[in-house]
Order: sequence, then structure tokens, then C-alpha cells
Amino acid sequence: MEKIKMQTPLVEMDGDEMTRILWQIIKDELLKPYIDLNTRYFDLGLENRNDTNDQVTFDSANAARKYGVAVKCATITPNADRMKEYNLKEMWKSPNGTIRAILDGTVFRTPIVVKGIEPCVKNWKKPITIARHAYGDVYKNVEMVIPAPGVVKLVYAPEDGSAEQTIEVHDFKSGGVVQGQHNLDVSIESFAKSCFEYALDSRQDLWFSTKDTISKKYDHRFKDIFAALYESQYKERFEKAGITYFYTLIDDAVARIMKAQGGFIWACKNYDGDVMSDMISSAFGSLAMMTSVLVSPDGCYEYEAAHGTVQRHYYKHLKGEETSTNSVATIFAWSGALRKRGELDGNKELMSFADRLEKATLETIESGKMTKDLALITSISNPAVLNSRDFILAIRERLE
Ligand code: NAP
Ligand code: MG
Repeated sequence: MEKIKMQTPLVEMDGDEMTRILWQIIKDELLKPYIDLNTRYFDLGLENRNDTNDQVTFDSANAARKYGVAVKCATITPNADRMKEYNLKEMWKSPNGTIRAILDGTVFRTPIVVKGIEPCVKNWKKPITIARHAYGDVYKNVEMVIPAPGVVKLVYAPEDGSAEQTIEVHDFKSGGVVQGQHNLDVSIESFAKSCFEYALDSRQDLWFSTKDTISKKYDHRFKDIFAALYESQYKERFEKAGITYFYTLIDDAVARIMKAQGGFIWACKNYDGDVMSDMISSAFGSLAMMTSVLVSPDGCYEYEAAHGTVQRHYYKHLKGEETSTNSVATIFAWSGALRKRGELDGNKELMSFADRLEKATLETIESGKMTKDLALITSISNPAVLNSRDFILAIRERLE
């Protein structure tokens, strides 16, 4: 059989620990036998980030902008323990944070739905994708403990020297706490843009929710910016695509989500997205079955698994013990990137390979062959628990 050709490269960001091991097996067994893989390779493994003073992360993100499609392996975000373990020159920043800042992107997290792993909410039949705004609010706040009576005020001092604006936050009669939050129109706009683009791209309805009835200026700003952009740039395209944009109060959204079937995108403010994405992923079964795609407002896509490097399994692997690490989200990161590459290049063969790879992966699980994490939660009786490599080989068998 002739291998599928790729006209344009996609950006490959290699990573760390157990996911780096899986990465290689996936390439060798599921991709290279079928595709003439054309990638711009960047090694984001912690050692190489340290050797290059993290330059490799910046280079990979800029390459992602250039080529429009990237696939990323999970990477270690260094902390004090890692500083010692890897003898680091510096506590390098989270690669995901660096890449997100360069692409100005929004992260969309989607559970992989498969027969035999039933979501806790029984009417959820299709995935619910969470889009989290990744700037500001409580994550860039300032706060203060108020020890004793006194007044706290918000002051805005315009740069042009015009009159200051002041409002009283609270006249404290005893101790308490206070917090200042902010957000930026440009950031909310690019968040909205990424959401509308991704809804069109994936042909799914878009929901957005805030607490605008209580927060009449702050949250209302988000609502207004979304609405204005929708009216001016997206309404027609949405109607043509047969999808809808739906704004509702966050309480109402939560209530509706529990009764919904799924199959839509839920855009959330930063804190709501943080909390709700953990709820959605655990309710759908497993973090190991969650994919993630970073979408920039100008249409760059970076695909990855939502989980980390699975450190505990890696240490077992290093000791020569058998592991049963779930590679599904990493496989879907590759299939997502290959499909998108195919779409942009008009490469039907590549797109259809991505479909077949996903189908083979899901059918392998549905046939009762799976990794340990899934065997613990599946409704399939007597599942066969495979080790990390054998699970990937079982997918290959099905692919053939
Ligand atoms: P993790 O790698 O997601 O793993 C946490 C636990 O979840 C694992 O120990 C394992 O549970 C289970 N798990 C996660 N993925 C799995 C998979 N594919 N198959 C089977 N089980 C899976 O999170 P972590 O241990 O907190 O973080 C490890 C490293 O990853 C850290 O250095 C962190 O900085 C990094 N990280 C990177 C990213 C990213 O690059 N996007 C995201 C998160 C974390 P059991 O041990 O019980 O089997
Ligand atoms: Mg969270």
C-alpha cells in the first residue's frame, strides 16, 4: 500500500515522561506505516527546554503560527522538585502558558465518548466541549485583608490627566477581605472570536453564560462583546451552517446542561471554565479520555491530550515494570491535527485516515480491549486489560 503524502508540514511538539514513550509508539505503529509524516519537529522535553533556555518552546509556538496546525505531547511544568530532578538552570514557565500567550488562543476541551464508558449523567449522549477564557478575573486579581474599620475605594486615574473616578467598595466597620479584578476588551474579543470560529469549524451550537444579572457592568461587558461580534460578523455564517449562538445566565446554563444530550460548546469565563471542565471530564469518565485544542482567533490549531505526563506510570516504566497507560487522548490529538492539516490542504486521504484511526481506537475499546483506567469503570463485562504497547498494537490490528 502506498503511504499517504502530506503537502504541508504540521508542527510536532514532543514532550516528557510516559506520554513521550507513548508518542514514539503511536508514531511508529499507527502513523508512519500509513503516512509519509511531514512534521517540523520540536523537542519540548524538559532537558531540551533547559538546554535551549526555553527558546525551543517559543520557536515551536512561532512555527505553529506559521503552519497553522500543531500537535503537542504533554510536558512537565517545572516546580521545586523538578528543579532538582532535572538540575534546571531556571524554573521554566509552563510551555502551555507560553504557547497560549503567543497564539492568543482559547482552549477547547472535549471528552471522547465511547460505548462501554457511560457518563454519570445518563442523558449525555454526545460530548460537551468546554471553552475557557484564559485571561484575568480572579486569576489576575489583587486582594487585601482588612484588619480593622476603614473605607475601601476603587479609583480610576485616566492617563490623559482627566478627572479621577472613585467608587466606594465598602465602609468596613470591622475586619474583612477585599478583592480587585479586571479584564480587557481585546482579550474578551479574541476569546469570543475563537469560540465563534471553533463553533463554525466543528459545526456545533455555541452556548455562553455569565452572571450578568448580578454583575451589571463586569459580566455584562462579556455578554455585550459576544453579542456585538455575533451580530456584526457571525450571524449569517451561523445561520448558513445551521448552528445557533445561545446566551444564558450561568445558573440556567448549569440546569440545562444536566438535561441536555450534549453535542455543543459551552463557553465559560475563566473561573467557571476551570471548575466546569473538571466536572465535565470526571462526569464523562476519565481525564485520560479528554482531548484539548488551542484555537487562536486567526485560526491556528494546536491539539493535545488534556492530561499530564503520567509521572507515576513513567517511574514504573523506568523500573522495568509493566504499565497500562491510556493513549487514547494522545492518539486523538494526532488524528485531530492530521484531519485539520488535511482540511487546510484539501488532502482527503489524510482526513479519512484520521477518521479511520479514531474509529479503530474506539472499536478496540468497544470490543473489550482497553487500558486499566478504563477497565475499572467500563460497563463491558470481562474486559481484557492490555499494557501500554499492546493496546496500541490492538488498535493497529483493527486499523489493518
Ligand atoms: P497527570 O499526568 O494527568 O496524571 C495524574 C493521574 O491521572 C495519573 O497518575 C493517573 O492516575 C491518571 N492518568 C492521567 N492520564 C492518564 C492516562 N493517559 N492513562 C492512565 N491514567 C492516567 O497529572 P500529574 O501527575 O499531576 O502531572 C504530571 C506532570 O504532568 C506534571 O509535571 C505536570 O506539570 C504535567 N502536566 C502537563 C500538562 C500538559 O502538558 N498539558 C497538563 C497537566 C499536567 P494513577 O496514577 O492513579 O493511575
Ligand atoms: Mg480546574
